[in-house]
Amino acid sequence: MTRQATQLSTQKSTSAFQAACRVMPGGVNSPVRAFQAVGGEPRFVAKGAGAVLTDIDGNDYIDYVGSWGPLILGHTDERVVAAINKAAARGASFGAPTEQETRLAEIVVARVPSIERVRFVNSGTEATMSAVRVARGFTGRDRIIKFEGCYHGHADSLLVKAGSGAMTLGVPSSPGVPAGTTADTLVLPYNDLAAVRQTLTQHAGRVAAILVEPIAGNMGLVPPNDDYLPGLRTLCDEHDVLLIFDEVMTGFRVAPGGAQELYHVRPDMTCLGKILGGGLPMAAYGGRRDIMDCVAPAGPVYQAGTLSGNPLAMAAGIATMQALTEDGVYEQLEERSAQLAAGLAGAAAQAGVAVYQTRVGSMLCMFFTDGSVHDFATASACDTERFGRYFHAMLDRGIYLAPSQFECMFVSLAHSAEQIDTTIAAAAEALREAAQ
Ligand SMILES: *Cc1c(COP(=O)(O)O)cnc(C)c1O
Repeated sequence: MTRQATQLSTQKSTSAFQAACRVMPGGVNSPVRAFQAVGGEPRFVAKGAGAVLTDIDGNDYIDYVGSWGPLILGHTDERVVAAINKAAARGASFGAPTEQETRLAEIVVARVPSIERVRFVNSGTEATMSAVRVARGFTGRDRIIKFEGCYHGHADSLLVKAGSGAMTLGVPSSPGVPAGTTADTLVLPYNDLAAVRQTLTQHAGRVAAILVEPIAGNMGLVPPNDDYLPGLRTLCDEHDVLLIFDEVMTGFRVAPGGAQELYHVRPDMTCLGKILGGGLPMAAYGGRRDIMDCVAPAGPVYQAGTLSGNPLAMAAGIATMQALTEDGVYEQLEERSAQLAAGLAGAAAQAGVAVYQTRVGSMLCMFFTDGSVHDFATASACDTERFGRYFHAMLDRGIYLAPSQFECMFVSLAHSAEQIDTTIAAAAEALREAAQ
């Protein structure tokens, strides 16, 4: 059964948001949470269980945000909860090495094809920022190439034509980022090898690295063209440039070893986050041994962290990694996600709403456009007002989507076939509403 808008009371969220706005900028600790792109006010969450979020007014939602990617097992997976509790009882932080760090590092090295050495950090932002520093230190070159609509966190040098919140809010770069900081950041369109070839020739001997989301997930979901990732690899080899895959979103999601396993392309360095931390603040960067041995204290490139390798985060990460080795987990994600994508496509066709759907495993996106989407420009052409109507119509029916056209839907192992059917039924109504 789907519910009608009028039955949802959101009074408590409304007053919670007012209180939050008095003490925090925009009432939130990360801009995408504030509903600015779709209008209205955010729901305040009381708890999550499996695929369901419950807000402080007691409304339930089937959740397709999953904390923006980390919760591939769903909320409060009992194995993860138990691991965190056990670790907390032993001590939240020591600032000295623990065996759990080695354990998780061994798992990462075994699972991600290109990683021989890894360093744990506290956020995806730190991972990409540090990887770029190491690439520059290793090559002795300053310039980097990134792509329009790819989001690599909010480090100064990478906050240029970025996706996610930066795109949602229409802030392609940001005040407070000095021009000098981004002067060595070259920005090119996604899925365009010719542009990369030309730029590498033009800046020969000066580019340290190409940083790319192997599957772009922060301008909606934009998969790479077939020849794109192999083409980047070849161009990097020809120009002695390091290839860095930002797999903060795709790592452990699209395959056990991430997009590099799925597409059989081996980057020199990889950034991980989200799923790796099992819902706790944790991320990592790693890669070839000779490159990673430049990192302090093995080498001269400085990078550190008081809470890096935090015992609670290690425990949550290890428990999540173990759960992902169970038989059939990626098959189940594929099956449920295919069911959802097919149902949504049918619902859109029935409602007469033009959409362009993309999906890689359990990452999905429905762009409201009658064209195809393969880069930032084509993603930007979407009807964001229609998305906003669809978003609210879904929310009213108990389906929690990311509050922006330029984000993915994430299916978790906690989503049942019934919950997917409920979602499709809600979408059939919501799309009719959005069509008007
Ligand atoms: C989420 C994300 C980041 C940033 O991670 P934070 O933990 O939010 O700093 C970087 N890169 C990609 C591809 C992401 O999806």
